[in-house]
Amino acid sequence: MTIASSDNTQTSGNSKPGGDKAEATADPLMVDHPRIERAVREILAAVGEDPNREGLLETPARVARMYAEMFSGLHRDPRIHLQKVFTEKYDEVVLIKDITFCSMCEHHLLPFSGRAHVGYLPEGKVVGLSKLARVVEEVARRPQVQERMTEHIAELIEQELGARGVAVVLEASHSCMTIRGIRKPGSLCLTSAMRGVFRDNLSSRAEILGLIVGRNTP
Ligand SMILES: [Zn+2]
Repeated sequence: MTIASSDNTQTSGNSKPGGDKAEATADPLMVDHPRIERAVREILAAVGEDPNREGLLETPARVARMYAEMFSGLHRDPRIHLQKVFTEKYDEVVLIKDITFCSMCEHHLLPFSGRAHVGYLPEGKVVGLSKLARVVEEVARRPQVQERMTEHIAELIEQELGARGVAVVLEASHSCMTIRGIRKPGSLCLTSAMRGVFRDNLSSRAEILGLIVGRNTP
C-alpha cells in the first residue's frame, strides 16, 4: 500500500506540458486580456463605480491576469501527465491525500477550494505521484462544478492507467455558499467518484474510504 500526503508543491508553474495539443494551446495569449479588461470596466460602471478613479485604474488588467491564471487549465490537456507510466508488479492501493486545489464555480465565477484525495489500484502500470496532483491542478483551473471535476479526474486515471479501481474524493468550501446567497460559512461539499473494484466491491470501497478519512500520521 502506498499513501502519500501531498505537500502541494506548486504544480501550475512554467513547465511546458508536452504533447501536440497542449503545445499548440498552452500559450497564455490564448486568453484575450483586452476583452476581459473592457468587460471589467463595464461591470464597474454598471454597479455605479467610476472605473477611472485612481484605485480602480489597474483593476481591469489585474483581473484579466487573474482569470488567465485561474482558467489556464482550459488550454491544457491533463491527460499528458498520465502518459509516462512505469511497469510495476505492485498491485496494492496507491493513494495521494490532501491535494489542495482552488477552482472557480462556473455558476457564479466565485472560487471554491479544498482538498482532493486520489487513489487507484494499478493493473501493471503506475504513474509518478506528483502527476496525480498535476491532473487535479489542471482540471481545477477552468470554470467548474465540483461534481464534474470529481468525475473527470476519475475518468482520466481509469482511461490512461487502465487501473483496476479508481477512487476520487473531493471536499471543498464554495464561496458562492459562504459569502453570498445562503451564507453558510464552514459548510463543506463532499463528492466522490468510484470506478472499477471501488464501485463494484463493497469491501474494497470501504477500505479505500477508510484510508481517505483516516487521519494522517506523517
Ligand atoms: Zn456557485
